[in-house]
Amino acid sequence: MNRQDFPILKEQVHGQPLVYLDNAATSQKPQAVLDAIVEAYTHWNSNIHRGVHHLSQVATLKHEEARRAVADFIHARSSDEIIFTKGTTDAINALAFSVGELLLHEGDEIIVSGLEHHSNIVPWQMVCERKKAVLRHIPLREDLSLDIEAFRALLNDKTRLVSVAHVSNVLGTIQPVETIVRLAHERHIPVCIDGAQSVPHMRVDVQALDCDFLAFSGHKMYGPTGIGVLYGKREWLEQLPPHEGGGEMINHVRWSGTTYNELPYKFEAGTPNFVGSYALQKAIEYMQSVGMEAIEAHERELTDYCEAQLSAIDGVHIYAAGQPKAGVISFNVQSQISNHKSQITNLIHPFDIGTLLDQQGVAVRTGHHCAEPLIDALAVPGTVRVSFGLYNDLHDIDLFIQALQKAQMMLS
Ligand code: PLP
Repeated sequence: MNRQDFPILKEQVHGQPLVYLDNAATSQKPQAVLDAIVEAYTHWNSNIHRGVHHLSQVATLKHEEARRAVADFIHARSSDEIIFTKGTTDAINALAFSVGELLLHEGDEIIVSGLEHHSNIVPWQMVCERKKAVLRHIPLREDLSLDIEAFRALLNDKTRLVSVAHVSNVLGTIQPVETIVRLAHERHIPVCIDGAQSVPHMRVDVQALDCDFLAFSGHKMYGPTGIGVLYGKREWLEQLPPHEGGGEMINHVRWSGTTYNELPYKFEAGTPNFVGSYALQKAIEYMQSVGMEAIEAHERELTDYCEAQLSAIDGVHIYAAGQPKAGVISFNVQSQISNHKSQITNLIHPFDIGTLLDQQGVAVRTGHHCAEPLIDALAVPGTVRVSFGLYNDLHDIDLFIQALQKAQMMLS
C-alpha cells in the first residue's frame, strides 16, 4: 500500500532491501511530509503570531490551519482544545504538572495501568512525589488484559485522575478505554488517554470516547519529530494552570504579576514548532487520503498473518496471543538444541535475535520498550517486537519470518 510514497523504503541495509518493522518506535515519512518541511523553510519561514509582515502572517495562518486539521482529525469540538507539544512525553509531562497544581493534595491518588510506557508512569511518579500523592496501577490478568474489576475497586474518593494507554506499545493490545472512561466519570474523575500507539492506526474520536485528555506524537503517524498534541476538554484546560512560562502564553506581564493568554496559547510558551505543525497536517492529510478504516483493516491483516506465521514456528512464544492487536506483536524465541536423548530449549536473548535480523535487513525493536514494569511482569529480559505501518505488506512479513527462522537456527 503506497510504498512508493516513502523514499526511505528504497534504502538497502547491510546490502539487503530494508524491511522496516519498527513503526511503533517511529514511522517513516511520505514525500508529501518531506516536501512540506522544505517548502516551509524555503518559502515562508518566519516567527508566528507577533509579526505584521507578510511571511509572519503566512506562517501564523499555516500553524492555525494545522491546529484545525488536528482538531478535525480527532473530532475535537474546537481547535482551542488542541495544544501543540513536542510529542506524547511532553504532553503527559505538561498535563501531570498542571494537574498536580490544580488537583493534587497530600494523600490523593492517580491511577495508571500495569502496561504503560514510562512516559505515562514517570511524570505521574514525579508529580505524586512533589505533592505527596500516591500512584496506583491497574493490575494485569494472566492473559495480560487489564483487570477491570480491580480498576473498579481502585477508584475512590481520593482518585484525582486516570491515565491509560489506548494501545500497548509492547503487546499491541487494545485497552477497554470506553469502560475505563465510563467508570471514572461515574465518580467525576477525568481520564487521559495515551494515544501514541492508537492515533496512527485507527480512527480516534475524542467526543465518542469522551476522554478528558488525549496525548499523541507526530513522528509515529508519518509526521516529523518534535511535534505532538495534547488534546484537552475546554472545561479542563480553562481551569488548569500553565506548566511553562515565557512568551506567547501571556496576556500582560507587569512587575506586579502576569495574566495568561487564552486557550490554547496559555499552554504554548515560546516559539512553537510551526514547521512541525504544518508537516503534521500533511501527514494527517496523507493518512486521510488512504483512509483510517483502510489503514486499520490493512494493518489488522498484516498482524493476523504475522501472528499466524510466528505461531507456526516451534519455540516462538507470542505475548497476548490471539487477542486483537493494533499493528504490534511481541514475542520471544527459544533455541532448539536436540541431542539423541532429549530436546533442550533456552530463551534466546531478544537482542541477539534483533542483531541477526538486522544483518538480514529486517529492522525490529528488542528490549524493554520503555515499559519495564510490564516486562518485569512477563519475567523476561525483554521481547522482540515487530510493528507495522500502512506501507508494510505481506512480502515484508515473509522476509521477516525467513530471517527469523535463520536467526533461530544460527543461535540454536
Ligand atoms: N506512550 C506510548 C504508548 C508509546 O509507545 C510512546 C513511544 O513509544 C510514548 C508514549 C512516548 O512517545 P514520544 O517518545 O514520541 O514522546
